[in-house]
Amino acid sequence: MTPNVLELHQIEKSFAGIPVLRKVDFALRRGEVHALMGGNGAGKSTLMKILTGVYHKDAGTILLDGAAVEIATPGDAERQGIAMIFQEFSLIPTLTVAQNIFLHHEPRAGGRLFINDAEAERRAQAILTDLGEDIDPRATVETLSVGACQMVEIAKALSKNARILVMDEPTSSLSEVEAATLFGIVRKLRANGISIVYISHRMAEIFAISDRITVLRDGAGVLTDDTANVTMERLIEAMLGAGAEAAMHWRPRTIPASTQPVLEVRDLSLDKRVEGVSFVLNPGEIVGIAGLTASGRTEIAEAIFGLRPLRSGEVLIAGQRVRTTQDAIAAGAALVPENRRTQGLVLGHSLQDNILLPNLARFTRGLFVRDGAGRAASEGHIRNLRIKTDGPDKVVQLLSGGNQQKIVVAKWLERNPRLLILDEPTIGVDIGAKSEIVEIVRAIADKGTAVLVISSEFEELLAMSDRVLILHDGKLINELKREEIASEEVLHHAIQG
Ligand code: ADP
Ligand code: MG
Repeated sequence: MTPNVLELHQIEKSFAGIPVLRKVDFALRRGEVHALMGGNGAGKSTLMKILTGVYHKDAGTILLDGAAVEIATPGDAERQGIAMIFQEFSLIPTLTVAQNIFLHHEPRAGGRLFINDAEAERRAQAILTDLGEDIDPRATVETLSVGACQMVEIAKALSKNARILVMDEPTSSLSEVEAATLFGIVRKLRANGISIVYISHRMAEIFAISDRITVLRDGAGVLTDDTANVTMERLIEAMLGAGAEAAMHWRPRTIPASTQPVLEVRDLSLDKRVEGVSFVLNPGEIVGIAGLTASGRTEIAEAIFGLRPLRSGEVLIAGQRVRTTQDAIAAGAALVPENRRTQGLVLGHSLQDNILLPNLARFTRGLFVRDGAGRAASEGHIRNLRIKTDGPDKVVQLLSGGNQQKIVVAKWLERNPRLLILDEPTIGVDIGAKSEIVEIVRAIADKGTAVLVISSEFEELLAMSDRVLILHDGKLINELKREEIASEEVLHHAIQG
């Protein structure tokens, strides 16, 4: 058995008297990728902040290579070879890659007065080359992609001889290609004996990359096992508690017969990417679009909603030809965009404002907003969507990602749309909020709304879709009934073209 480089024993932590970690045990082997999982608020980040000296534990012990250590400050953690790759990057945009990597521990020239840029660049290049990354050490960080910034973060940790790396949601803002590159690097680091604590909500990713999994629920460890022994069902049950995982199981729905489709996309071609796409959506149907990131999924959604000019073809909603977003909205369409933080919400405003904003006409009489009606409507949504908040006046920015996403959905539900288009509806939300969103989408469709869902997460696509359209390189290459898709592998195979 590989020795443990790190052991956390019986860690306890409370904030303002509320226990957040309850006697948590966690061990990390040399050269292991250990996934730390749990819903929002389970205590994952708090545990890792204790390890990296950001927070102080109330009780418990930390052992490194079998010896008890005190980690009182981030500096202590760094000296012990523990580094955290931050979710929000801590790089300085105006400095170069090399300057960022060696910030605060720059190689000095001569009398240590001057920073030796050439030496820093040489060493930075060596680390990046070792990682297999083609990043210029002289490039300014602000010119880099998110994925490249993350590589620089990793290189920075390695330059300080880190042997334990904590990655908190490292792929949450990466493209698929960038995520694949990151996985390659994680495997390389592991092969070099570096130990990694990997926090992520994405199930497929966890199964692909981790050797072991530990799950926290409400601040307590509820599962630790080799990934090979953990099934999806067991993992979800550990995260949610028994019973709650039922939402992620697909069940056949009865779709009422209809004479007029809600949406008809006829021979749609867009710009360079999308070519001759045709399909229909009937009332009450949930149709998924599956495909790789650059397959044209978002472009199709935007074209349907009148946000993108068509090169050829046409879009009809409820029999009406749609050319602009005004047309689409008038015909009863709603789009929940992928980038909800910038497109879907006004973050500095209250939950109630966000829900009512696009629907103001219904809550105004003459010039005055009918406050009572607006309040009742937003309180209804908070209840029905189980949005976790103190009340409708809470500023949206302060809510978790899952709850923000539910507000975007609520905002459009208030309009009772005929067609609801969801682009990556659960991106960045935990499995608990995800299963709730899946249930909400089903409830919407059951009332007769036609739903078009774009998702990179096969699990949720398969949980809710009645039909799945397979897009490859901008072309619709297949259309499968849900019952024809026996497993995620079938879908995976289908989208490879
Ligand atoms: P996770 O990373 O699993 O989503 P966190 O460790 O961030 O969970 O949070 C666990 C709990 O601790 C949450 O209820 C959170 O609100 C609370 N918490 C975290 N940091 C603080 C803090 N600095 N002050 C008060 N409460 C906090
Ligand atoms: Mg966290």
